[in-house]
Amino acid sequence: MSLGKRIMDWSAQAARHSEPGPGVTRLLGSPEHKALLADLDGWMQQAGLSTELDGAGNLVGRTRHQPGLKTLIIGSHQDTVRQGGAFDGMLGILLPLAVLQQLHEQAVTLPVNVELIAFSDEEGARFSSTLVGSSALAGTFNPDILKATDRDGVTLESALRGLGANPDQIPALKRDPSKLAGFLEIHIEQGPVLESLDLPVGVVSAITGIERHKVHITGKAGHAGTTPMHLRQDALLAATEVVRAVNDLCQNTEELVGVVGELNVTPNAVNVIPSAVELTIELRSPVTRIRETARQQLLAQLNERIAGHACQWTHERVYEQQEVDCSPAIQQQLANAIATCGWQPHTLFSGAGHDGLAMAKATPIGMLFVRCTGGLSHHPEEAIIEADADAAAEVIKLAILNWEAPV
Ligand SMILES: [Zn+2]
Repeated sequence: MSLGKRIMDWSAQAARHSEPGPGVTRLLGSPEHKALLADLDGWMQQAGLSTELDGAGNLVGRTRHQPGLKTLIIGSHQDTVRQGGAFDGMLGILLPLAVLQQLHEQAVTLPVNVELIAFSDEEGARFSSTLVGSSALAGTFNPDILKATDRDGVTLESALRGLGANPDQIPALKRDPSKLAGFLEIHIEQGPVLESLDLPVGVVSAITGIERHKVHITGKAGHAGTTPMHLRQDALLAATEVVRAVNDLCQNTEELVGVVGELNVTPNAVNVIPSAVELTIELRSPVTRIRETARQQLLAQLNERIAGHACQWTHERVYEQQEVDCSPAIQQQLANAIATCGWQPHTLFSGAGHDGLAMAKATPIGMLFVRCTGGLSHHPEEAIIEADADAAAEVIKLAILNWEAPV
C-alpha cells in the first residue's frame, strides 16, 4: 500500500471519532478523543513505536531509543474546531506515522530518536485554552488553566483525568532543549497559495504574529429624517473609514493581512443615525516590523479620517502575539528534500497559529504545508488528495533520513 493510501485510510477512520453533525468535532478529553487515542495507540505500536499517554493528554510514540542521539519531535494536534475537517491537525500525526511505519518495516536505522506526538489540544474549542499539550512540553504550561471549565462546568483537570492522563505530572513533561534535535510539524496549508502554484507541499518560513484592537467610535444619534446630511455625526460612516483603511493598507503591503471582523452598532435602528460603533481590527504579519509600521500608519490615518465625520474615537490593543520564525536550517533541510523529490521548494508563511508557537520555546521548529483543496479548512469539506499525501510523505521520509539537529 502506498503511503498516501495508508494516510487517507487512517484519516477516514480517525474522522469517524467525532460528535454527531457535519464535519469532525473532536474536543479535548471527549469520548471521541478517548476513542481516537485507542486507535492511534494501536497504529503507533504497529509502527514499532512505544507509546505513552502523558500528563497533558498527549499520546507520545517513541522510536527505539538510540543512546547518544538527540530527539526529533514530530507532531500535531488531535483536536478540531467544532464542525471542522479531517486533516487539520490529524495529518501532522498520521502522515509521519505512515512514514515511521514504513521505515520500521524496512528496519531502517534513523539518524535521530523520534517522538511522534498527538497533542491533546491546539484549537481550544472546549476550554478557553490553546496549546495545552505543546506548552506542557515547552515548560510554559500555565497550571491555572486546569481550573478552566467547559460549557457544562467540567474542568480541564477532570477532562484530562477522564482521558487517563495525570495532570500532576505536567511540570515533569518539560523537555531538556539540549537533548532535542528540533520540532517538525506537517499541516494542511489552510489557504490557497500552494493550489494556485500547483505544488503539493511548501516550506513554512514563520508562524504569523497577530495583534487585535478594539475601536470605539462616538458620534451623535439623531432623527434620520430631520437631521440635514451635513450636520450629522454618523459613527457608522466613520467606521466604514476604518474598514476601508485596514483593507487598503493590507492590499498595499506585502506580508500583511488584516480584517475588521466585528461591528456593533448603537442604536442599530432603521431610522436613527448611528451614535456609536464598536469594532475590532486584526492585523497579522510574519514580520514584527511590518506589523508595527502598519499599525502606526493606520492609526495616523484613522485620526484624520474619523475626524472628517465629526466623530471621536478611542482604541485599545487587546491582544498581541509575536511571530515565531521557523529555523533556517530546518527550512533548508525541507527544501532539499522537496527538491530531491522533484518539486520546486516554495516558501510561504503561516497565517494561522500552530503548536510550533509553543514548541519554539523548547527547540528550533520547522513546518511543512500540504496543499488543501480550495484552500478550505475549519470546514467539513476540508480535503487533500491522496497524491499530495504521498508526495508529502516522501518528502518527510527523506527529511527524517537526512535529519541534522539545527544549531
Ligand atoms: Zn491545526
